[in-house]
Amino acid sequence: MARTPSPKRPCRICKRGFLPNAPVKDRQKTCDHPSCQRDGFAFILHRFLTDGFLTALGHNELLLYFFLVLVSDRNGLSFYSYDRICTMLELRIDQYVKAKDSLIEKDLIAFDGTLFQVLS
Ligand SMILES: [Zn+2]
Repeated sequence: MARTPSPKRPCRICKRGFLPNAPVKDRQKTCDHPSCQRDGFAFILHRFLTDGFLTALGHNELLLYFFLVLVSDRNGLSFYSYDRICTMLELRIDQYVKAKDSLIEKDLIAFDGTLFQVLS
């Protein structure tokens, strides 16, 4: 018996399989997750500069923080794995761990082992 191909397609951004909305079909390139929506946006509070975080953080901390702000949903949550983050940001695992731990220590992010949350 021939196997029917899955109607799911990979999201262009997060690579997870999703079912396109019927009216859109092949034109839908991303899943419905908020962090994959093209019309989403991210912003950094001006307080990040005036409170001294921009100058106090190291290069990798800034890189990771801006990445997490960029990919997070409206609640500041993101679910990228460490290996994906390291690949996208070209960080070694030790650089990633150091930057993550530093951001947690400064109360800029929270991490439960799976989910990140950018704190304001
Ligand atoms: Zn997606």
